[in-house]
Amino acid sequence: MGNYNLTKLQKKVKKELDADRYHHTLGVKYTAAALAMCYGADLESAQVAGLLHDCAKCIPNDRKIRMCKERQIEITKVELDAPYLLHSKLGACLAQEKYGVEDPEILGAIQWHTTGRPNMTTLEKIIFTADYIEPHRFKAHNLAYVRKLAFHDLNLAVCQILEDTLHYLDSGQGEIDPMSRSAFRYYHNLFYETEDKGDSLTT
Ligand code: FE
Ligand code: FE
Repeated sequence: MGNYNLTKLQKKVKKELDADRYHHTLGVKYTAAALAMCYGADLESAQVAGLLHDCAKCIPNDRKIRMCKERQIEITKVELDAPYLLHSKLGACLAQEKYGVEDPEILGAIQWHTTGRPNMTTLEKIIFTADYIEPHRFKAHNLAYVRKLAFHDLNLAVCQILEDTLHYLDSGQGEIDPMSRSAFRYYHNLFYETEDKGDSLTT
């Protein structure tokens, strides 16, 4: 504890975000702290990751692409079609570069907060979940259920969020990063392995 100046980080990231994104960011910070209490994760890491998870979100898309190229960050086809996806990878990079974060756990939580990934660390799951359930969110249809679930079974909450997100994106609301599907298969198999192993292992 005590490696980071949270007040300073918060002031700095505020300058990079529009008002809505900043409020969302504070929501993620507090929700991540609450989840960290619940699951015995490091409170400071959770708050740092929460504060910085969207630090690259408000950069215009063409600049996001340019900044990724300058840093030799690989851009996939899906990311080129939906450059907002790049804010996670680029955000992890900027967290290190501009905010002095070296902890790979925190950087991983920022990097994977949009798509998730198979076998996430506790902090990765906390940020992924906090991003979805923080108090300013209101659109997702299962929110009340997922919010409750998040404090009972984090893996199941992650699984539900991935399922709902894929559903939403499948209905034509946005690009799907293949990593989201891999993540969903992984978490789905944790709970429903015996019932439909064959089905969920395809694609
Ligand atoms: Fe984000
Ligand atoms: Fe976010």
